[in-house]
Amino acid sequence: MFNKILIANRGEIALRVIRACKEMGIRSVAVHSTADADAMHVRMADESVCIGPPSSMQSYLSIPNIISACEITGAEAIHPGYGFLSENANFVQIVQDHGLTFIGPTADHINMMGDKITAKDTMKRLGVPCVPGSLGGVATIEEAHAVSAEMGFPVIVKATAGGGGRGMKVAKTVDDLDEAFSTARSESKAAFGNDEVYIEKYLTLPRHIEIQVFGDGKGRAVHLGERDCSLQRRHQKVLEECPSPAIDAETRARIGKTCADAVAAINYAGAGTIEFLYENDEFYFIEMNTRLQVEHPVTEAVFGVDLVREQILVASGEPMSFVQEELAPNGHSIECRINAEKLPEFRPSPGKISQFHAPGGLGVRMDSHLYDGYKIPPYYDSLIAKLIVHAPDRASAIARLRRALGEMIVDGIDTTTPLHNALLQEPDILSGDYDIHWLEKWLETYS
Ligand code: ADP
Repeated sequence: MFNKILIANRGEIALRVIRACKEMGIRSVAVHSTADADAMHVRMADESVCIGPPSSMQSYLSIPNIISACEITGAEAIHPGYGFLSENANFVQIVQDHGLTFIGPTADHINMMGDKITAKDTMKRLGVPCVPGSLGGVATIEEAHAVSAEMGFPVIVKATAGGGGRGMKVAKTVDDLDEAFSTARSESKAAFGNDEVYIEKYLTLPRHIEIQVFGDGKGRAVHLGERDCSLQRRHQKVLEECPSPAIDAETRARIGKTCADAVAAINYAGAGTIEFLYENDEFYFIEMNTRLQVEHPVTEAVFGVDLVREQILVASGEPMSFVQEELAPNGHSIECRINAEKLPEFRPSPGKISQFHAPGGLGVRMDSHLYDGYKIPPYYDSLIAKLIVHAPDRASAIARLRRALGEMIVDGIDTTTPLHNALLQEPDILSGDYDIHWLEKWLETYS
């Protein structure tokens, strides 16, 4: 087992990893930009190293600075959290070249899943159901017309190198295709330096269902059920739950096994998430994330596991601590992502927290780096807290979430808490009847 782990991240996820390290008796090293000198992850870690100025490019994304921080502190392994360098295969290679351990999958697996066409081809070969679409990249507008005509409209043009919802354009009819194709290509070129795109059938009313998988890197893998992340704004998840109100035990076991078998077949190591759109009882693979997800706590609550501990165990060469037969869902969990943003425009609202009170009580988990007097810097993601509840069933989880949101105090800045309060009054949310477009439509009337 490692003696010391460096966490190449900030905010709540850095705290999450430091907490796991403490429970495992491992020393933790925080890295921070000058803007984060007073951050909670710096205070909570055993040691900390300043790795640069506020700009992420020069700090949290600076590979030389992070490797130097490992060398200075003697950390043997790096946990990347999510975002930043977590899915950067080049970083993983450099970490290994320096004799350090990356807590996550191999560079090859990150590359395989980072390129969406390769990811889709691989999943198809492994028996995972995919969205109907072009075979590989679509290079010319003539080819785009041919592929779309054969599939039928609407279609979606997507960047091969895509991420964060960029380089994606819907063509409702043939008349939209020329523009969708050229916009997706130019957006992709600007964002990723690569203008290759592919075309998929556009699903009109799907849910976003993702399967948590975990592999030991030696051909053994399990699944830990699904998360429903259909409530999205601009492709950003807002509220997530486990289990999905739309999935029954038989369906879960079936798609779960398909996913676990697929990652076992490629000797995948560590935590991963296979994302699907789900419509008319069918699953359609869209992408695999080769890292811990923001919403992992709902799975932890329902399956009674510590996914970060498990990541560390497997990265250090130990076996996984569970087998599939031991993993049974228990109760219901919901997570609200609370952002420092002013509604209704969702405008970033950084600034000083004058008063902070975290909710507590039975079945309540608050993952947040806030404290009284903390100054939220304007440079990073606006996520300030994840409020997670766990209860025996969905109705009691909703009641618990309302109660916990009512206890929470974050004064001094604007947050998205009122949005969550409002959502928890909506009949469609209470009945679980929503798809990936529900929130955007609802927001048109919300003010
Ligand atoms: P990114 O990596 O940019 O997040 P994804 O492939 O994960 O891109 O897609 C992000 C979101 O875009 C999905 O959650 C869904 O809302 C929408 N989307 C992607 N592909 C399709 C499709 N074929 N039909 C309908 N919606 C889609």
